[in-house]
Amino acid sequence: MWDVVVVGAGPAGATAAIAALRARPDARVLLLDRSGFPRDKVCGDGVAPHALDVLEALGVRGLVDDWAPVHRLQLARGEAEVERLMRRPARVVPRKVFDARLVDAAVASGAELRRHRVRSVAVGRGGIRLDDTIEAHAVVAADGAYSVLRRAAGAGPSGRRALAFRAYAPTRELGRSRQVIRFGQQRQPSYAWAFDRGDGWSNIGYGEVLGRRAPPSRGTMTAALDRLLPEVSDGAVEWRAHHLPLSSARWWQPDGRILLAGDAASLVNPMTGEGIFYAVATGALAGQHAVTGPAAGAGRRHRVAVRALLASHLRQTAVVSRLLPVPGIVPAGLRAAAADQRVFDDLVELGLGRGHLTPAAVAGVVRHLRA
Ligand SMILES: Cc1cc2nc3c(=O)[nH]c(=O)nc-3n(C[C@H](O)[C@H](O)[C@H](O)COP(=O)(O)OP(=O)(O)OC[C@H]3O[C@@H](n4cnc5c(N)ncnc54)[C@H](O)[C@@H]3O)c2cc1C
Repeated sequence: MWDVVVVGAGPAGATAAIAALRARPDARVLLLDRSGFPRDKVCGDGVAPHALDVLEALGVRGLVDDWAPVHRLQLARGEAEVERLMRRPARVVPRKVFDARLVDAAVASGAELRRHRVRSVAVGRGGIRLDDTIEAHAVVAADGAYSVLRRAAGAGPSGRRALAFRAYAPTRELGRSRQVIRFGQQRQPSYAWAFDRGDGWSNIGYGEVLGRRAPPSRGTMTAALDRLLPEVSDGAVEWRAHHLPLSSARWWQPDGRILLAGDAASLVNPMTGEGIFYAVATGALAGQHAVTGPAAGAGRRHRVAVRALLASHLRQTAVVSRLLPVPGIVPAGLRAAAADQRVFDDLVELGLGRGHLTPAAVAGVVRHLRA
């Protein structure tokens, strides 16, 4: 019987395994993934410094120090534009690299890694059985946007979703040494991006929140990317699409032995599509609470801890994301950020970390909305 089985070895799962072993070095931890590593994951590859903070606190230091720091962020919608230095740089690291390194760190911590696709989950009084063969006191559900474990825990499908596609293209002058985001004006909310990896290549893509209208086709998304960021897709390779399960104002986690983390917990920032910070932050809490205290109470402990960390932030991002389609809001936010570094920093914290709407940011947006 394993103390904890972690299903999914992306950022949420690998971090959960590391955190479990840090909390209880004698714990028996099994890390399962349907893929062998290194494996690709469709993503913008933007790793916020907040995610690296969580990993450092768990003893995983310097994981991506060999990738160029990206200090500049440019945001634009139509004529409104801001480009500033971020308080702390991000890194743009292909997930093939980032996730494999994190999995190596989990194995080095003492987790056993196995390639296995989980198909069935049976929750009993004394533990959980996966595919009739693997038994655990507790299970961390870190199996991503199409989570099998989330359904087994009794959750409905995640709420709002976005659909995005990405590719890799040679870096153009427009996007050199920066992360560029251009908000769409037609299908809302939407944006195109070009994130410089610093090695001659950029991660480029386009995504939009799904609503009542028909989901975008591949052709619609390519046209939107070309319209918003002309020429960045010249020479692009490795086009792939994926869903993003966006967070809402209320976060759900049941009592019991299944602990949700990352995309499986429907935790992607609805303003920006950022999910790696939430994945490592909730993975860390899930791993810790799975092995400390009775397993039957792990879900409750995890819920309390995640709510303490994120609840008020999630409420605010939910409100702001609902306001994004309101005419004038995004340009007002960009102009306020262009006028005041503090507003820029506050909006970056809200979009990439667990920041809040500050009085300076609200006042700045309202002022520019009136203007
Ligand atoms: C186009 C796009 C761009 C994005 N850009 C960014 C960005 O720039 N920055 C950012 O922070 N976030 C970004 N995100 C969000 C980010 O990719 C996710 O939030 C993040 O990957 C979540 O990590 P995770 O560990 O929860 O899930 P994942 O990374 O999806 O990992 C889940 C793992 O579970 C495994 N798995 C799935 N099902 C099973 C099963 N049944 N059995 C065993 N294993 C299974 C998978 O193989 C996978 O390895 C983007 C997302 C998309 C789609």
